[in-house]
Amino acid sequence: APAPASNFLRNIIERDLEQGTYAQRRWAGQPGGAVVQTKGEPDPAKIRTRFPPEPNGYLHIGHVKSICLNHGLARDYNGAFHLRFDDTNPEKEEQEYVDSIVESMRWLGADWTSPFAQGEQHLYYASNYFDFMYAAAEYLIEAGHAYVDEQSAEEMRANRGDFTTPGTNSPWRSRTVAENLQRFREMRAGQHADGSMVLRAKIDMASPNINLRDPALYRIKRATHHNTGDAWCIYPMYTYAHPIEDALENITHSICTLEFEDQRPFYDWLLERLAEGGLLTKPLPHQYEFARLNLTYIVTSKRKLKQLVDEKHVDGWDDPRMPTLVGLRRRGYTPEALRLFCDRTGASKANSWIDYSVLEATLREDLEGRAARAMAVVKPLKLVITNFEGEPVACSAPAHPQKPELGTRHFQFSRELWIEAEDFMEAPEKGYHRLYPPRVDEAGVTVPGNKVRLKYGFVVECTGFKKDEAGHITEVHATYFPDSKSGTPGADNYKVKGVITWVSATDAVAAEVRLYDRFFTEPHPDAGGRDFLSVVNPKSKQVVTAWLEPSLANAKPDDKFQFERIGYFVADRKDHTAEKPVFNMAVGLKDSWGK
Ligand code: ATP
Ligand code: MG
Ligand code: MG
Repeated sequence: APAPASNFLRNIIERDLEQGTYAQRRWAGQPGGAVVQTKGEPDPAKIRTRFPPEPNGYLHIGHVKSICLNHGLARDYNGAFHLRFDDTNPEKEEQEYVDSIVESMRWLGADWTSPFAQGEQHLYYASNYFDFMYAAAEYLIEAGHAYVDEQSAEEMRANRGDFTTPGTNSPWRSRTVAENLQRFREMRAGQHADGSMVLRAKIDMASPNINLRDPALYRIKRATHHNTGDAWCIYPMYTYAHPIEDALENITHSICTLEFEDQRPFYDWLLERLAEGGLLTKPLPHQYEFARLNLTYIVTSKRKLKQLVDEKHVDGWDDPRMPTLVGLRRRGYTPEALRLFCDRTGASKANSWIDYSVLEATLREDLEGRAARAMAVVKPLKLVITNFEGEPVACSAPAHPQKPELGTRHFQFSRELWIEAEDFMEAPEKGYHRLYPPRVDEAGVTVPGNKVRLKYGFVVECTGFKKDEAGHITEVHATYFPDSKSGTPGADNYKVKGVITWVSATDAVAAEVRLYDRFFTEPHPDAGGRDFLSVVNPKSKQVVTAWLEPSLANAKPDDKFQFERIGYFVADRKDHTAEKPVFNMAVGLKDSWGK
């Protein structure tokens, strides 16, 4: 069910559908290529939404929010969802990012294939519209809506004014159409230096909205573009390009984050002018804003994420601690969990913070129902069963307690086992029900050691332990009750308060296990201008050698498991092999770990 908070967008769409706001649109979209907005058949898609990433970095959890929102609305209202690379800024964009974004989108299940036209792919590049954008700019000049300004960048800034002061008209503002056209064509032909002049809209230098004080439309920039190569030395500004991209693709609801609210009047101004000129046909797309996702204990600015990578605070963009999609995936996040997270947190008009634990809860919820169970010991301590002799005993357990179809795991019980170090306490604190040794009480009476059940195995009673010279406990001793085996009639005669997990030294598999904690020690790492690097958690990653039950020897990269009593783990997509197993902690089990 959609989160109630996203209702404001649903209300808008439902109103538009009811009123037939977009019923008159024509559509002649071409698979993967440029789009002609105004000709062709009635648009089969009731609405169109888009996700317009700039290919200048990897997608992160904030982008997931926007993807799920746009994709979900198109899906729910018989619409089409477009993936559009907003690639108008050649210096910062690279094919590597395009490829990674495509892969992440596919993985997430945000499909851009139209349900209406078989195989029609709604994957677009803003750079494919450069010709149209250029023609539209010439039209604006001819209609007296744009001029070439030769002021320096500093002059332009100074003449823009501020919230209290109106701007000052540029001395170039009143040049003739013919002069403007000639200059603009010279800009395009490469006859002027980078930064020497820009094309600006001619709107109102006294507007209370600073975005309407003659915003720049085109700049000169000699840069090779990943799609258009060296065909252009002038590039459109984002604020000019974006509305045109939306209109050419027949987008109906152009959903963006709140920072763009002040841009909306220009968005509308531009599209209205181009419609007047016959370059676009009404109805035009509309922009709607929602609050961006802010998640505690992470940063999502691409610049800051890049800094974490470049300065080696993490092991690359796909480090499992990164909030990038490639990082989340390696951490064990599933598309289902991420979509659940987006639905649950909704989309609202008011900025707020979502606690990181909300994200973790959705992963736990998703994996609970489907991850196979296994026993693993991540901080191992040896347990010696002193009265056990002979061959190991075969034990078994269901792969999933509610899903018999997932089968049965098999493992051994033997004289030497591994248990978690924290499942033994020399001097137990109050309420501790796991292993502790016998002691002599004040009256001189010996109190026996504690009994626990080794899950799916036997009940054992602690009889003692060994320490090394430094005082570290090196092994724990216990005796077992041969008639207490789980699943046998005798098991019921033993009432114990503690159940612990274990593996047998005879068949356990050694693995590298990476345990993760919050990446920052503060919920708002970059709040109040603080240097976010000063609050990096030095203990966010801990690598241990763990012992795993033998069923995990068959794990494939990306397979996810619940290590009983510990949490969910994933076989690392990059480093895991049968010879050298590597598991990443995805998320802990909220309630039982450490209790
Ligand atoms: P960053 O601020 O990380 O550099 P961006 O907004 O510049 O991100 P784009 O590639 O331009 O990155 O973003 C594509 C889309 O994702 C935009 O529509 C943007 O509004 C949306 N988006 C980015 N970050 C968030 C966020 N935290 N919450 C919701 N939507 C977001
Ligand atoms: Mg952007
Ligand atoms: Mg940004």
